[in-house]
This record gives sequence, structure tokens and C-alpha cells, in this order.
Amino acid sequence: MTTQTTRALAYFPSDGATRLIDFPVKPLDPNEILVRITRVALTRRDRLLLDNREAVLPEGEDFIVPGHIAMGRVVETGSLVRDFEEGDIVVPTIRRDCDRCIDARSDLCPHPERYQDSGLTGAHGFARELLTIRGRYLVKVPPHLENLAMLLAPLSIAEKAHHEAVQITNRYNFYCYHQQEDVAPRALITGLGPVGIMMAYLLSLYNYKLTIFCRRESDDLKAKILDPLEIEYINTLRVPVEGLEKAEHNFMQLFETTGDPEYLLSIMPFMSPNAIMALMGAPEDHASGRALDVDLNRALSGVVMGNQIIFGSIKAGRDAFESAVKHLSELSDLYSNSLESLLTGTFAMSEFQRLLDMDMRDVIIPSLLLT
Ligand SMILES: [Zn+2]
Repeated sequence: MTTQTTRALAYFPSDGATRLIDFPVKPLDPNEILVRITRVALTRRDRLLLDNREAVLPEGEDFIVPGHIAMGRVVETGSLVRDFEEGDIVVPTIRRDCDRCIDARSDLCPHPERYQDSGLTGAHGFARELLTIRGRYLVKVPPHLENLAMLLAPLSIAEKAHHEAVQITNRYNFYCYHQQEDVAPRALITGLGPVGIMMAYLLSLYNYKLTIFCRRESDDLKAKILDPLEIEYINTLRVPVEGLEKAEHNFMQLFETTGDPEYLLSIMPFMSPNAIMALMGAPEDHASGRALDVDLNRALSGVVMGNQIIFGSIKAGRDAFESAVKHLSELSDLYSNSLESLLTGTFAMSEFQRLLDMDMRDVIIPSLLLT
């Protein structure tokens, strides 16, 4: 029997090269699904992988297929599959379970050596035409959301962080009658990558009073995407955070997506008493050992004196993907055109190099079209 192959993009850390290869398609088990990938993103995060000579490769391989954000259509289902059928639009989830985490919440698994992240560490990603995958790693997307399905993965990360922040702050059964009643809760987002942008759209559904701190001009592409939202936009290159009036910028919920430790420390003074901050971006050069010259006394005394909480949040579980489908449907009714404009920078698979040569400041979720 000849093995079916599919065209795939592959990164070889030994020579730092990325090229198209013929990649074997795993034959279908009874509980697996064959998916034709129609679109795969190559974001800034993926580019970091394609630059990383120390990338963690799938077992026994000398390359890794990149791409952790993708969508596709079901082509064939194994005999035991009940929840999917041919033609369904699907989005694959990123983490491959350790298989021992309760509720399949392997986004919380404490054993990094036992799980893999597709297209990032230890498992091939989705920059390939055909993918054999178990149903538990697929999220079904209703047909009316096909044009926005690529936003599901970044939105699911925002969903998880927001959900956790709400759950954690529910520990307080607290209200102070000195509080003004007509003031909407204020939230701050830092950074304007795909996750920061989807965070802004998600929080808009909850009627928070929103502020974004970002190191960009408000008239550039990414800032324009936020035009339909009622949002205070502050370019902290022009208006340094140190110069901002703390009384006017105090937030109950803060979502830090830049992963820049210096930036994080600079926004800590804007946390209200009892506030919570989610750290959603992993520092890029954490391996470099670069030391920061900071006044931790000041930063930490604010946390203690204000009963504040800072927590980390990464990836998303199945529930977060499912509530992302629900919210994406609401957002598509309100902002379909703006959200579609997140998906500029589209190339055929054979033109992947043109995509990689683009300046990432000009695109948000650039992707390869595989059909
Ligand atoms: Zn586990």
C-alpha cells in the first residue's frame, strides 16, 4: 500500500531553512477525522519558531511543520466519529493532551514534558494540506462564521484569561458604599497583537469602560481595527505611562499581552485596590538572563497594600473555545467588516517566503491560503 502524502511547510533547525516538503498523511483510525486545511496563519509567534535553532521537534523528526492557528473542512470521518461530518468547518485546537489531565484541561497541565503544542513545541502544526486528527482537538464553526474562523484561537485565549479573572475576583463578596454607582468597571489592555485586539472586542461585549496602552500611532492599521469600539487609545511612546494621571487611569482588570517585563512593571501603578492583572504574553528573551533594574519595593508594596492579584494565563481549554464560538457570532453581527480586516496579508502556499519577508508591523494575522 502506498502512503498518501500531502504538501507541507517544514522548518529544519539544523540548517535554519524553511521549505515545502511531501509529508505523509497518517491513515485514519476509527476515532479520527481527515481535515483539508484551507487557511493557516504565520504570525509573529510562528516566526519566532522559524528563527529558533533550539526548537523542540516532534519525536524522531529533524523538522517541524509550523502553524498553530488554522481552519479547514472535514473530508472524511473514522467509523466511530459521531460529532462531525463531511463538509463541516473546523478549527484545530493547539495543545495535544497529556491524556491524564482532568476534564482534558491540559492547558493547565503542570508537566510540559508530557504535552505538545502543535506547530510550536514537540508536535507538527497545521501548515499542510491534509491533517489527520482526533475529534477532541477540533472545534466546529457554524457556516456563517467561516470568514472569521481564524479569529477563534486568539479569541479563546482572551476568553480564558477573562473568565479566570472573573472567577478569581469572585472570591470577594465585597462592596463599598463610597463607590459611585454609575461608574462602569474599567479594564486596561496592553499590546495590540491578535490576542490584545480580540481581548478588546470580547470585553466590549461586557460593557467595560476600555483603555488600551500601546506603542503605536492610533492611525495605523492595527489601531484602526479598534475604531468601531468605544475605547480610549493611548500611545505610550508619545504619552509615557509615567506622565499619565493615576487617578484617571485606575483599572479593576488589566490584561497584559506584550510579554515585556519592563512594560508590565510600568503599568502596575495603574491597578486599583483589589484589582487583578492577567499576564498573557511570555517574555520573548526569558532565556537571555537579561537583568532588569527595577524598584521592586514599590511594585510589590502596591500589590500587598491593595490586595491585588497578578496571574498568568496561556492557551485555552475546550470551554474557552466553545464560548469563543458564541461570542464570535455576536461580534460578527456587530463588527463583521472590521474583524475581517484583521486577516490581510494572504498568500498561496508556494509563496510562503513572500509572507515571511513582510514587515509584521503591516499585518495582524497574515496567512497562507491552501485551496
Ligand atoms: Zn496533564
